[in-house]
Amino acid sequence: MKKIAILGSTGSIGTQTLEIVRTNKDIEVTALAAGRNIDLLEQQIREFTPKLAAVWSEELAAELKTRVRDLQVEILSGMDGLLAVAAEKESEILVTAIVGMIGILPTIEAIRAGKDIALANKETLVTAGHIIMPLAEQYHVSILPVDSEHSAIFQSLQGGQEKALHKILLTASGGPFRGKKREELENIRVEDALKHPNWAMGRKITIDSSTMVNKGLEVIEAKWLFGVTVDQIQVVVQPQSIIHSMVEYEDGAVIAQLGTPDMKLPIQYALYYPERRYLPGDRLDFGTLAQITFEKPDMETFYGLKLAIEAGRTGGSLPTVFNAANEKAVALFLDRKIRYLQIPEIIQACMENHRNIEDPDVEEILKTEQETYEFIKNRW
Ligand code: NDP
Repeated sequence: MKKIAILGSTGSIGTQTLEIVRTNKDIEVTALAAGRNIDLLEQQIREFTPKLAAVWSEELAAELKTRVRDLQVEILSGMDGLLAVAAEKESEILVTAIVGMIGILPTIEAIRAGKDIALANKETLVTAGHIIMPLAEQYHVSILPVDSEHSAIFQSLQGGQEKALHKILLTASGGPFRGKKREELENIRVEDALKHPNWAMGRKITIDSSTMVNKGLEVIEAKWLFGVTVDQIQVVVQPQSIIHSMVEYEDGAVIAQLGTPDMKLPIQYALYYPERRYLPGDRLDFGTLAQITFEKPDMETFYGLKLAIEAGRTGGSLPTVFNAANEKAVALFLDRKIRYLQIPEIIQACMENHRNIEDPDVEEILKTEQETYEFIKNRW
């Protein structure tokens, strides 16, 4: 029996992880954490019977406690709750399916408790990769990528030839506004940006995909996961989302992972690595597949990607500023308080205002996050 805990069990990745648990009878869920959706969390507690569950708000945790008083489950709240779920003593793997930098401390807690990490929460690696990766090595735990592109790279690297890796070809769908120029994006509404052509995901990452900021975050995530430089990562637009990413070796050979767009594959691969299991769902049919096409990314229109590459190259606290500015700008856009094109504008202004800290510790990272939020609050 494999034992897992999940941060963000009520979200897109969290619920798909639980679908995998449902179809495979040899995984036990020991702990779950969610933000506000206690209706769904209650259902999950009844179905998967974890020993521990956490909700962010104290008030909602109290309500949930009352609702599940007929069950043997401990209910916690706030950061203490997240840390307890992360380090729940029986679990072997923590699935980090929470959104945003709030994932940093629980991920560190889980590593220190010796848990392998199935990592979806890219914001943690983007901002604290220089802390997370050495810590994982020190505690002999694996960081298993859940992001589909990083899983594809990880799968393409199987065979033990990592030393001969020359470059990573990180594929991107280009999002719903691929081919458009900046003037055409002036009046983009929240509903337009939430329509991703190929993937159904949480709201924040869907907006990030439309601005290509998501691809920028993935460049930095790949830098940490695979120990390469930002200049060894090339973003390739592949609009059909069939090639999930590729690696090029020293001898020029390119190895790719292909499949239908289904996040359950990378989630299941991370949970059972190195085993491959049957996964129900559509298969690629090369008889009917019309075409796989490639383009260069338009870094002038989608300059959030260019800013991410700059932040990733510079390192230090700049990726935190990039990420925090984006998190806040996306939240403001979703609340209809700023226009779509202000998202990269805000990121750029925050980056220009920042004095970089070369090797920030967790406290400095979290302080930088707060300073970035303050800077935005006073201006937008
Ligand atoms: P969702 O918005 O769908 O889900 C986020 C989850 O985090 C929810 O369960 C939410 O709880 C929970 N959460 C948010 N804030 C808190 C908090 N303060 N305390 C506890 N729980 C909290 O996001 P996604 O599943 O789309 O994304 C999760 C992560 O995975 C992100 O980092 C994203 O970039 C990454 N990712 C997602 C992919 C996808 O296909 N969706 C693909 C690759 C990576 P609640 O809803 O109850 O408030």
